[in-house]
Amino acid sequence: MKATFRSIEGTYDILPTSRRAVRRSEAWQHVEGVIRDMMQRFAFQEIRTPVLEPLSLIARGVGEASDIVTKEMFAFIRGRTHYVLRPEMTAPVMRAYLQHHLEQHPGEQRLFYMGPCFRAERPQKGRYRQFHQFGVEILGAIDPRADAEVISCALEIYGALGLTGTTLRINTLGDADSRVRYIEALCAYFAPYEAKLTSASQQRLQKNPLRILDTKVQAERALVREAPRLIDYVDSESRAHYEAVKALLDEVNISYTEDPHLVRGLDYYTRTAFEIEGAGLGAQNALAGGGRYDLLSQSIGSSRSVPAVGFAAGMERLLLALEAGGQPWPAAGVVDTYLLGLGEAAAPVLFVLAHQLRRKGLSVIQGPRWRSMKAQLRTAHRLKARCCVIVGDNEVATGQATAKDMAQGTQQLVSFDALPDYLLSYLR
Ligand code: AMP
Repeated sequence: MKATFRSIEGTYDILPTSRRAVRRSEAWQHVEGVIRDMMQRFAFQEIRTPVLEPLSLIARGVGEASDIVTKEMFAFIRGRTHYVLRPEMTAPVMRAYLQHHLEQHPGEQRLFYMGPCFRAERPQKGRYRQFHQFGVEILGAIDPRADAEVISCALEIYGALGLTGTTLRINTLGDADSRVRYIEALCAYFAPYEAKLTSASQQRLQKNPLRILDTKVQAERALVREAPRLIDYVDSESRAHYEAVKALLDEVNISYTEDPHLVRGLDYYTRTAFEIEGAGLGAQNALAGGGRYDLLSQSIGSSRSVPAVGFAAGMERLLLALEAGGQPWPAAGVVDTYLLGLGEAAAPVLFVLAHQLRRKGLSVIQGPRWRSMKAQLRTAHRLKARCCVIVGDNEVATGQATAKDMAQGTQQLVSFDALPDYLLSYLR
């Protein structure tokens, strides 16, 4: 059959049968399970927000001058409403926090999320138009402990999955005033070189000078190395906060590199900023990024200041990194029991049996009873079935089925009535 439609460029299907982990549902389920387990250990509770958000939330929350807002949004108008497919989750989570007055609940809010995000970027390895992020946000927390906890949570997830070769870079962005002073110094520093900058960086110099620090252009990287360092403009409280975060990381032997030019692409960060990179990923090696964003609530229109810190991590990049590291995936069985029918009379008997076994909590599949025993056994092996129940005309006549242990090759006659309990005690 000729395939008429294909998935849109930069999006893809996750299938049970794909050889590549990033496209195989079983690999996703494994990784998601480890993430959920770790979230539980850190006492993060799940938040699920809509994929559609108001465009102005993202424009204000992420920053009018950011690449995401200027170039990468999937946005559209329906009636009078401007919508956007969410490009990230922090602004939506803060929206939900403010909308539902979550600050009225005692203590800090510890939330985690997992779900699809959308950015109209040029697709390449590790960069997609629909991708998935997981992450955490601790809202209402000023303590440096929260910053260190967020970093530790991301690294513990990678560790639990057996990922090696990750590196952590950290920096502090200071408060709003230190950012203003730093941006002034940065503009003064780059001004004499303006003519030599790429047109993209020239625009950034006008609109979002911090973004120049992220340049990938070699000649510009050399300039960035000599540029003023953020830390020299940071207020004393933010410095103390930064020192406290580093001391906590030291306590639990988390190693990091201090990167005085690490700024993150999004506008709402204050104080702590960090990025985690993975090995073997090529150009798109950022696994996760995050930091403190004490200014976000006010930049999306709230009169309340909500100190908060979190991280966002890419699922696809994590799967790619695990695959590049040669990580073996746990072998998952597909079914417990394969019901192998031979001939017409077996059909109703097996249908009833399947129904009973599923009610008992076993996973069951019925083979095509018009195919030979050999062909069906081959399928049972491929599905990694632990047990085969064989029912042909003889078995229907005697009311007994042959139960075959697929690993041992042994078999036994069991009456139909006794089969559910027999299989249950045998398989569990
Ligand atoms: P950001 O919000 O840009 O800091 O992204 C957080 C993480 O999401 C990054 O470190 C990546 O792992 C992942 N990510 C961001 N954009 C994409 C994309 N277009 N495709 C795949 N993963 C992405």
